[in-house]
Amino acid sequence: MDSLVRASLLLRRIFRMGYGTALTCGLAAYVVLGGATAPLGPLPVVLGLVWALLLVKRLRAKLRLTGDAKFALDFELGALLAVGLDAALLRFDGTLSGRFSPATYVLVALVASFGRPAPGLAVVAWVVALDAAIRHKTLGESSWEALATQAGFAFAFALLNLLLLRAEVARIRITARARVERELERLRDDARSYRLLGAGDVAAQKEDAEERLARSSVEEIHQSVHYALELLRRCLDLHTAVLLWRTDSGTHLRISELSTASDEIHDAPFSIGDGVLAAVIAKKEAVLLSNLRPSYKVPYYASACPVRALAAIPVIDDGIVRGVLALDRVENRAFTPHEHELIAQAARYCLRAIQNERVFVQLERAKVEQGKLYRAAQALGAAMSEKDVVHAGVRAAREIASFELAAVTIWDETTKMHEVCAARSEGGEIEDLVGQRFKQNTGLVSMVVTNRFPLPYKGEFDPAHQVVLSKRLPWPNIPSLLVLPLLHHGRPLGTLILGAKRRHAFGDTVRPTLEVLASHLAVSLSNARMVHKLETMATTDGLTGLLNKRAMLDQAAAKVAAATRFGRKLSVLITDIDWFKKVNDTHGHDIGDVVIKGLADILERTKRATDVVARFGGEEFVILCEQTDEAGAALLGERIREELEKTVFNTPSGPLSVTCSVGSATFPEAGRTWEELFKGADEALYCSKRTGRNRVTAWAPVSISRIKAG
Ligand code: GH3
Ligand code: MG
Ligand code: MG
Repeated sequence: MDSLVRASLLLRRIFRMGYGTALTCGLAAYVVLGGATAPLGPLPVVLGLVWALLLVKRLRAKLRLTGDAKFALDFELGALLAVGLDAALLRFDGTLSGRFSPATYVLVALVASFGRPAPGLAVVAWVVALDAAIRHKTLGESSWEALATQAGFAFAFALLNLLLLRAEVARIRITARARVERELERLRDDARSYRLLGAGDVAAQKEDAEERLARSSVEEIHQSVHYALELLRRCLDLHTAVLLWRTDSGTHLRISELSTASDEIHDAPFSIGDGVLAAVIAKKEAVLLSNLRPSYKVPYYASACPVRALAAIPVIDDGIVRGVLALDRVENRAFTPHEHELIAQAARYCLRAIQNERVFVQLERAKVEQGKLYRAAQALGAAMSEKDVVHAGVRAAREIASFELAAVTIWDETTKMHEVCAARSEGGEIEDLVGQRFKQNTGLVSMVVTNRFPLPYKGEFDPAHQVVLSKRLPWPNIPSLLVLPLLHHGRPLGTLILGAKRRHAFGDTVRPTLEVLASHLAVSLSNARMVHKLETMATTDGLTGLLNKRAMLDQAAAKVAAATRFGRKLSVLITDIDWFKKVNDTHGHDIGDVVIKGLADILERTKRATDVVARFGGEEFVILCEQTDEAGAALLGERIREELEKTVFNTPSGPLSVTCSVGSATFPEAGRTWEELFKGADEALYCSKRTGRNRVTAWAPVSISRIKAG
């Protein structure tokens, strides 16, 4: 059934892929066999409709397409058009060499222009083949000359169109792309000169969100400034009001925004030079001029000076002249003090617009960073184990900076050793680094743990002079590196290491956020350790390190349930040291503890991996053995008994040997619940004690009741 479905799906796919081409071939065959010149009847009309429907379907597919079309689509379109055209020529001209025969070349040219080259050439071949078939079969022409001419022209047309049109399209695309690039570059320049982008970190600037933010701010600034200039120009009857801004180098000025009545503006950066603008910048003072002659050079005019009065005011930000607000008018009317005041206010307004946007960008950036850190804190807070914390931390770091390598090392204060607990590259885990340990050395990780400060200072890795982990564990040679300390209450827990193939990946824009993330990571790591410690404390016995009674009861419930479900055997053994009170009384509690610990070690050694051992209280232990019957339990009990009997404890008052009694009970004979099983094993233990101690007894209803009675 399955293969039938698969076969029918395959058939459907083949049909979908090939039915258009098959239909086209069928229609072509019909035309070649004389269908186009046959008298009009139902068949030609139906086939004509099929042709039209198929053509519309293919055309719609082509128009809906955003990328390049598949070979089949382009070919079918061209082939269908050729069949239609030949049929029309035959019906109306009766021949392929008539008045309208050049239409074939138009078709070929069209296909070559709008399709891709391969299907274009296939269509030309199809046109020639169809032509040959019709001439030979339908028209009975045997002149190869006409066919050769036709084929030659068709290929020539196709080739010419292909070359010319494609070259033209490519040229237009390149110019358009260059224009967009120029515009983007200009926006970026603006953003830099208004100090909306952090300097130096080119890679970070190119990141989408950053660039979009800067771009919208630049547009905001332009709108505000343009509004002010327009207002000034109309109020003060100016020819031009222009805000000139210094370029990065500081040696040139360029037009940042302008409102003018002139069409002679020189729109390229110009050198500050030694004219009026240089004076404004050098003195940081306004210059007001009138009575200007046509020979006077105003640098933002391309032609002779069209104005008679000029006011230039410095735009000072942070004590530095960032730009000049220049206003001029054609009329020779000097700027009055009142006008001067108004211009100064306008300059302050322009500056405020820029400063506001700068604050906005910083706030927006901080908001984005805070969002990332908030999400990181949530993810880290949800992670409970050390491993989960490390993974959440690396994932969060990836939101802040892009990098290819990440590793976390853990520092053990007591052994003075580092351990790589996670190491991931783009491809996945770096297996040979995980679990590697190394001593404190002069490498970067060791230095970071010692100094509690991120390294390397500039975030650049120099493999010739720097060691990251240790000399034995080489770090991949990639240019960017950042080792961050994981500090909790000032105590180093380890490091977070990031590596990137891109230069300057860990610049000032990402570093502070990564440092905050590292501190979150450290807190979560410390919490995860605390949780682990608490869990261990809650489930283990302090003296022996074995499970405690509570943990054993949890396990017991699960094991009894599993034994019931799968109908398996399950044995419970209880051990109790004989005459233990005497040991305590004679040798003291400390020695008593040593003996208890000794028996715990024996149990740990003797049990199988699937068995569970717990200290149940005092000097009593319980062992739960899955898939173990009475005989198996007796064997284990005997081994434990023998081992303890052989063991000699050294005490200040000489060697000490103790024995133990063991009782066992097996599911389901001795009981079907934990309580019944435990009771059975306890009764068996009681039996061991009553019959002389240092022995193993399995629960059996008769013997136990006899012992009890006796
Ligand atoms: P029996 O052969 O009948 O078991 O005699 P026993 O003396 O061993 O009697 P029982 O098992 O009732 O004695 C348990 C003793 O174990 C009582 C207590 O003083 C001692 N004990 C319980 N917990 C500890 C412990 O943590 N350390 C030490 N040293 N002794 C403990
Ligand atoms: Mg006891
Ligand atoms: Mg005892």
